[in-house]
Amino acid sequence: MIGIKKPEQTLMQKIYLPEILRGLAITIRHMLRQKPVTCEYPEKPHVVPPNFRGLHRLIQRPGGRERCVACELCLTACPANCISMVAADPNDPNVEKYPLRYEIDVLRCIYCGFCEEACPCDAIELTPHYEMASSRREDFIFTKDRLLDNNRYVPEGERVSKVRTNETYLRI
Ligand code: SF4
Ligand code: SF4
Repeated sequence: MIGIKKPEQTLMQKIYLPEILRGLAITIRHMLRQKPVTCEYPEKPHVVPPNFRGLHRLIQRPGGRERCVACELCLTACPANCISMVAADPNDPNVEKYPLRYEIDVLRCIYCGFCEEACPCDAIELTPHYEMASSRREDFIFTKDRLLDNNRYVPEGERVSKVRTNETYLRI
């Protein structure tokens, strides 16, 4: 049988205090050297990167009507299957179809941006707006009216085109 002799501790090691103070000194040194990394949200709004994908909106035509022509390409491209639509005839010689009903279940959305990429008319955009919190599930079913209403987060003169990289938008 092999006997292992326990090493003797010095008095300083037995009372632990010097090691605790040494550890605290390292912590305080790092605390004073580091710059704060916390975001003071909501007092200071967070500035998102230009390619951030947030709140969806249906882009409007100059008259206020949606640009969407109900081609269903966004619906086909969506990997989360969260877009649904009913197309109808708008009785307008300039427009073949329009979305009578257009809905996004945002609780299923993964914010991939495929709907925006697939759209041939630049009719849908994932804006940099990110404040969407709600405690009601129904608030996350974005109907056509809600998607058009989301244009209020975009400066008035810029609602008829994409604003993703627009610096003005990022500041609001
Ligand atoms: S962002 Fe992606 S998951 Fe969300 S609606 Fe568009 S295609 Fe679907
Ligand atoms: S949003 Fe674009 S891709 Fe989707 S149905 Fe409308 S026009 Fe087509």
